[in-house]
Amino acid sequence: MDERALKELELRDVAALYGLVDAPHPVVALAAEAAPRPIHAPANPVVASMPSAAPTVARVIPSDWEALKVAVRECTACGLCRQRKQAVFGVGNEAAPWLFVGEGPGADEDEQGEPFVGQAGKLLDGMLAAIGIARGREAYIANVVKCRPPGNRTPTPEEAAACAPFLDAQVDHIKPRVIVALGKTAAARLLNTDASLGSLRGRVHDYRGTPLIVTYHPAYLLRTLPDKAKAWEDLLFARRELAKRAAPA
Ligand code: SF4
Repeated sequence: MDERALKELELRDVAALYGLVDAPHPVVALAAEAAPRPIHAPANPVVASMPSAAPTVARVIPSDWEALKVAVRECTACGLCRQRKQAVFGVGNEAAPWLFVGEGPGADEDEQGEPFVGQAGKLLDGMLAAIGIARGREAYIANVVKCRPPGNRTPTPEEAAACAPFLDAQVDHIKPRVIVALGKTAAARLLNTDASLGSLRGRVHDYRGTPLIVTYHPAYLLRTLPDKAKAWEDLLFARRELAKRAAPA
């Protein structure tokens, strides 16, 4: 990422603080270490139950990636299906070392069928580029819910629970080396907690055996510019964690 782009994202000063500008990109080597891995063989399909607030209906969640996409596209397991233009499955390298999990599609995402395509998406891409990550290469990006909540409201716990088997199947398939939860909704869903985002930052959590780091949602950062520096710290922390785990014993 060049200095002009960093400046536009107001990340230039932060990047300089960490010595990430005026020098060859330190993460390029990391990105090379974290080269895409072979695609995993499908595991057994998962049978999921609807959340307790809804009638209990067993659903078969396909483990095959393409079948999973079809299942999401056709899903009517919660009320969010009613107003969506399309379900937004996710985007990126399905064998990526990094998995970023956001909240749910907004208007742009609902229109285009891809997560994080508006201003928040540009900010996320810029921050990822600053540490040598591209969404189509080293990262996969998905959301807690695959259909747009009306008015971009926060998904309810019931909606997040109804969609959980899809996200879990994505994690099982991608087998990321690190997961980054973007915002409180993602952290709450993946860690099953209602703790504040601030209290969850700066620690390595565990999501079914995969290290998980919590940071701010890019849409929040657009409204709260001073916290961009904290999000940057979180990404560097996640990168160090991934490097530690990728290093030979
Ligand atoms: S949000 Fe998830 S569970 Fe609800 S209808 Fe969409 S795909 Fe199905």
